[in-house]
Amino acid sequence: MANERYAAFDGKEALDVLQPADTGAVVVAHAQRRSPFFFVERLGDRVITAVLWAVSLLWRYGFAGVAVGLKAARYLLRQLGRTAQNGLRALASDVRGIHRDLSMLRAGAKLNAQNRGKALRRAYRTYFLRSLRERKRFWQGLCNAALPLLAVLALAVLGARLHTTVPALEVRLHDSVIGYAADERTARRAMDELRDILPQDRSTAAAVLGGNPTYRVRRVPLSALSGSAKLSEALLAHAKAPLVRACGIFIDGSFLCAVRNESDAVAAFAGLIAPVREKAARGRTVAFVEETTYVQGLYADDPETLWDPVELKRVLRTPKSEAQYHTVQAGDTVKTICKKAGIDETALRALNPDMDPERLTAGQKLLTAAKSDYVHIKELEYYTYGGVVPFETIRRESDALRAGTTKLLQTGKNGRQVTTAANTYLDGKKSGIAVVSVQQTKAPVQQILLIGTGSPYQSLGDLGGGSARTGWIWPAVGAYDLSSGFGYRSARISGRSFHGGVDIVKPGGHSTGAPVIAAAAGRVIEAHSGYRGYGHTVVIDHGDGLSTRYAHMQPGSLTVKAGQKVTQGQQLGRIGSTGNVTGPHLHFEVMKNGVRVNPMNYIG
Ligand SMILES: [Zn+2]
Repeated sequence: MANERYAAFDGKEALDVLQPADTGAVVVAHAQRRSPFFFVERLGDRVITAVLWAVSLLWRYGFAGVAVGLKAARYLLRQLGRTAQNGLRALASDVRGIHRDLSMLRAGAKLNAQNRGKALRRAYRTYFLRSLRERKRFWQGLCNAALPLLAVLALAVLGARLHTTVPALEVRLHDSVIGYAADERTARRAMDELRDILPQDRSTAAAVLGGNPTYRVRRVPLSALSGSAKLSEALLAHAKAPLVRACGIFIDGSFLCAVRNESDAVAAFAGLIAPVREKAARGRTVAFVEETTYVQGLYADDPETLWDPVELKRVLRTPKSEAQYHTVQAGDTVKTICKKAGIDETALRALNPDMDPERLTAGQKLLTAAKSDYVHIKELEYYTYGGVVPFETIRRESDALRAGTTKLLQTGKNGRQVTTAANTYLDGKKSGIAVVSVQQTKAPVQQILLIGTGSPYQSLGDLGGGSARTGWIWPAVGAYDLSSGFGYRSARISGRSFHGGVDIVKPGGHSTGAPVIAAAAGRVIEAHSGYRGYGHTVVIDHGDGLSTRYAHMQPGSLTVKAGQKVTQGQQLGRIGSTGNVTGPHLHFEVMKNGVRVNPMNYIG
């Protein structure tokens, strides 16, 4: 379909090549713009034609002949002129006479002042009727001159119309012209319309026509163009075989034949299945394996494809193709037999299940093609059985639930179903089982399981503190003693100093390794080791200008990275003694807009 292109044949474009494609319907047209010097070329053509005409006259009659011809023409013209002159003179005198008469009439009417218009009209009518008699010659002359003129004008218009040619597609079938289509689309539509009334497939449509139409571009008078309906009719009229209304039989979509009446087709197939149906075991349904369809339409009146009912019955009872055998000869192998029969080894084995490829004996008969029929009849034995529809389990994550725990939100329940199946028997032998339908009698109920993804340290009860007011939780697990508070204190080395956070330890010591967790959800903005005196540190931004710092953590214990989002209670690391410390503890700071504030206002 790649080469389907359309070109408008609107008469303004000159067309060159058209290629009828294999289906006969796809035509490729190349359009070219007309040259701007078209009219000049045409004028040149006219001059050349006139010169050639003159030369041909001279050639045929010689100079003397042409001179005689010219003299005769001059004489004729002069005579015509004289006649015309006389006629014109008479005409002028008549016109003058009429003018005079009319003036007199008007003058006469003036006297009759009361009813002037009416009197004038009456006078005109009387004068006209009288002049028809008295000036017969004038009126005759007028008619003689006007009628031929009108006729010539009409002829000229008709001729011009007939000779207004347009480019068109000439549609030909079997060397005869079917008609002219204004454009490719019309030609294609004609073929489509033809196919609609010919139910046989494309190839048989061509068979009915005896070939595909061919196309050529021609300039034709506008009046020669046909519509698609007229074209398809004309194509049918040129069909190889005459067409008749009939009923086509299609087996699994492919055309078998046509019969005159659908009832003949129905009877033939019913006759085939009836004896099988009678013999069939109780409870079995008998049906054709193939799908047969009947299509009414026009078919070729050709004994090759239009069968009588007796022929149809005979064909349906005989095999489509007989079984074929190969007799093994000395030197034959499975390979050579397959090559001769044109089948592969698997097919050969399937056709001859008893064959031993290693021991082929001369004279042995091998099946190389099974017998095949036009239609096959199957018997179906229906039965039903019940079954269980297992429920499905849906796992849903929930951060409201601690990690490592699950909760059954909804208990699953199995459903029930009834399956209808059929044993299939082909030619009396069981050929398979087909599931015909599955009907659910009870729908299963889903099992819904909640999977906890929340922090294991979230409940305030587990921890050393936290604030219900702020919603923040204590930043360490199992360590809830303060070894140093927020504010000024005396330092070992440099006297009074400011302590910007709180130091958190386990009540009995041994704080090392206790989990450090996020006091609130936020985004990690720092996570590194050895930062000033803080040692291994994490800083979290909680929004609203609030951030928290967790310092002195164990080397290698940090579980978060800068940029990462953390949930409340998420572990950040473990209590250690990195940085400037005297012993293991968590140094925890809260910063409000960058200024350190008392953490106990948030977690106390
Ligand atoms: Zn501290």
